[in-house]
Amino acid sequence: MTTVLGCIADDFTGATDLAGLLARSGVRVSLRIGVPSEAPTDPAAFEVIALKSRTAPVAEAVAETLSALTWLREAGARRFFWKYCSTFDSTAEGNIGPVAEALMAELGSEQTIYCPAFPENGRSIFMGNLFVGRQPLAESPMKDHPLTPMRDSNLMRLLEPQVTRAVGLADRLTVSRGPQALRAELDALKAQGVAHVVVDAVANEDLTIIAEACRDMTLMTGGSAVAMPLPALYLADGTLSADAPKAEAPRIDARTIVLSGSCSAMTNKQVADYTSRGVPAFQLDPLSLAENGPQKALDWLAKQDLEKAPLIYATANPESVRAAQERLGVAGAGEIVEATLSACAVAARDNGARRVIVAGGETSGAVTKALGVTQLDIGIEIAPGVPWTYCRSDGHPIALTLKSGNFGAETFFTDAQERLAT
Ligand code: ADP
Repeated sequence: MTTVLGCIADDFTGATDLAGLLARSGVRVSLRIGVPSEAPTDPAAFEVIALKSRTAPVAEAVAETLSALTWLREAGARRFFWKYCSTFDSTAEGNIGPVAEALMAELGSEQTIYCPAFPENGRSIFMGNLFVGRQPLAESPMKDHPLTPMRDSNLMRLLEPQVTRAVGLADRLTVSRGPQALRAELDALKAQGVAHVVVDAVANEDLTIIAEACRDMTLMTGGSAVAMPLPALYLADGTLSADAPKAEAPRIDARTIVLSGSCSAMTNKQVADYTSRGVPAFQLDPLSLAENGPQKALDWLAKQDLEKAPLIYATANPESVRAAQERLGVAGAGEIVEATLSACAVAARDNGARRVIVAGGETSGAVTKALGVTQLDIGIEIAPGVPWTYCRSDGHPIALTLKSGNFGAETFFTDAQERLAT
């Protein structure tokens, strides 16, 4: 199998989100954490490389992305997708524009599109202005983001300082006239030298039209949603053969560990729901961890029946989090919890756990690193944007799900186990 679409995402949970949407097609999707150090041996039809480049210095983000591009080309990809956040998280320096321009230069591509719309999640674009629900981006909570505050809602104005070539718009009036009209508009803009085209989309149908018009572009850029129609389009036109490898769901031993390091509102509810079911649970306290280390948690874990899917959690309400952070510092408290949950993940695996459920974006990064996981095959979706994945850790086949902050329903931890049982 050679790769049909090579995708590069600027952060890990964004990569999971994109991989999950592509996997809805049933075709095999593989996610790599960072650029693999080895040449591709068994590439999937859809390969997604997760970088950590969203807020990295521009030169670093460009270099990492180009090295991902090289790997994807070696995997056989001739079409590429650059995935960033649906709220266009960036600053006047980048990294969305500079990375896109570097990819275009390397690929010899004259034009690309920018479509961060994700209507199912309330992100829509009209006349080049991005909305979060009913609010313009610059009036949404994104205006106060600590690293990438979004103070303008107009994507053309946001993009212009980030790129050297001309920026334009294909608006909803054009998109609503169908793929041919959009294709003609893109060609007309190209003839005027417009290299960067923001494309309006307010509904899923718009995304299908855009994907159809742009499926043969060497480079497309956007949020995850505009890529979702691509597998079906590639299957329909034979770009992807009907016998392309399907996503597999290997049988995985049912011994399970649940690890939660997220303190988001939804995760607090999920932990409360799970503990109310009488499941064995151990609460980590950052202050006592700082004093006594992780041994007490590890001793507790060693005694557990993993068939009961025990939970180890640091999840706490905002007051407790603040108290821990005041004593240990924000980074200090985070690190101590992440290190403990990572040690618990490794110990649980060594005790026979083969299903690992993790809550928390940063926590997921720490746990995958500790488990030595660098490649994941995407499986069934548990909640929108949160799939089960299959990987290997220390030679063992493992089912792993990584849930960031507010994703999933209140019953997520049991939902995840039930999805795998079917
Ligand atoms: P989310 O996806 O909800 O943002 P993350 O795992 O990305 O979750 O971030 C949560 C951070 O908070 C992690 O660094 C974690 O180690 C830290 N943390 C977890 N529990 C506590 C706690 N009780 N006190 C202080 N920090 C905590």
